[in-house]
Amino acid sequence: MSITYSRRHALWLSAGLLVACRDGRSAPDASAPAPYGVPPGAPPGPSGAAASTSTSTPTSGPIADGATPSCIETHANIEGPYYRAGAPVRSSLVDPGMAGTPIDIEGRVMGLDCSKGLAGVELDVWHATNDGHYDNDGTMHLGREKYLLRGRIRTDAEGRYKVSTIVPGRYLNGPQYRPAHVHVKVRAAGFAELTTQLYFPGDPYNDVDPFIHRSLIMGTEKAKGGMLGHFDFVLRNA
Ligand code: FE
Repeated sequence: MSITYSRRHALWLSAGLLVACRDGRSAPDASAPAPYGVPPGAPPGPSGAAASTSTSTPTSGPIADGATPSCIETHANIEGPYYRAGAPVRSSLVDPGMAGTPIDIEGRVMGLDCSKGLAGVELDVWHATNDGHYDNDGTMHLGREKYLLRGRIRTDAEGRYKVSTIVPGRYLNGPQYRPAHVHVKVRAAGFAELTTQLYFPGDPYNDVDPFIHRSLIMGTEKAKGGMLGHFDFVLRNA
């Protein structure tokens, strides 16, 4: 049920990447996307975390872990290097036999007045495997037509969405792990497209990641057979 890597796994992966760096190879596949890099003016690590989470998106101050912001525009977050357009339309991203802790992530999509949910909104979701890999990070050879842990879903008449998947693993970005996260693009007619990431409460890397915004930490709870995550999106007009 835990979302954390085992210490053994983390040490093994760290050692592997260090060896790769010494060999002058930054990625297993030269065609793989570049890593996130570092936000301008914000070195990775605790000293850079505070500066990097400040953007032009309005917020109303600190929000506790697990609390979904209400009637405040959802904070944008970096797209990262692993997005692929054209993911299949499906509510479950899990393939048969896929390892990982099951999680259903659900919530609503609303405009800034939060008066009602927005119907027919597209959520384009992608994230890493439970051991921290994307299908386009150069570690897999699945063919271009295969989309792993990616999918597009739409909100219902009440603006509600639900996506079934697994808890993603952390992965190294340079010398430091990123906390577990789920990438989302939210597209609604008449509203500005939102690109952001959802995070998990209690991840120790939440406190040092230079990209996270704490308002993006989902509410989570244990559920039968896995976990349940909750997050409401609030969009501004286009
Ligand atoms: Fe990512």
